[in-house]
Amino acid sequence: MPADRYQEKRDFRRTPEPRGKGKRDRSDKQPVFVIQQHDASTMHFDFRLEVDGVLRSWAVPKGPSTDPAEKRLAIPTEDHPLEYADFEGVIPAGEYGAGPVLIWDRGSYRNLSEKDGERRSMADALHDGHAVVELHGEKLQGGYALQRIGGGEETRWLLVKTDDEHSDARRNPVSTQPESVASGRTLDEIDAAGKEGDEESKGNG
Ligand code: MN
Repeated sequence: MPADRYQEKRDFRRTPEPRGKGKRDRSDKQPVFVIQQHDASTMHFDFRLEVDGVLRSWAVPKGPSTDPAEKRLAIPTEDHPLEYADFEGVIPAGEYGAGPVLIWDRGSYRNLSEKDGERRSMADALHDGHAVVELHGEKLQGGYALQRIGGGEETRWLLVKTDDEHSDARRNPVSTQPESVASGRTLDEIDAAGKEGDEESKGNG
């Protein structure tokens, strides 16, 4: 199972997150990316790229920047099932990652990774520790590089905007465009709706 660590960490009787049905062949489709803002024990943005039937994932504490001079720390996390790209809601208290999740941006992406002038598959590029993607999102467009730094248990990556016609040092979409691209809601609104849902289900026994 490609996402077994994901499943081990979660009790699907309790969390509304998708269970995930494992690997699916989407080779005829453009791969997707999603960035989910997640107010868990600490606020972060989960940056996920579809690679070979799963969502490869990094937690980015400050979120993505549109400024090529800003290097954003990206901590690798477990692969998530593709269905997770559609998840927005509240992970209940006591469950792994408890807190609201908002679909901050999403769309398709193109792999621009190269090595020695040759195109590199995403899986190989990530294995090498350097990948470049072109995002076609609603908030984010253009090139982003993922660069691995350090190694072993302390492996960290940097997520950096590449210099292109979409780079902009003055834009700060993390603070100026906080709403969900899926529902238009803010994180507080998602959290409040999730808590109402909890109350209703308790009321119904
Ligand atoms: Mn998260």
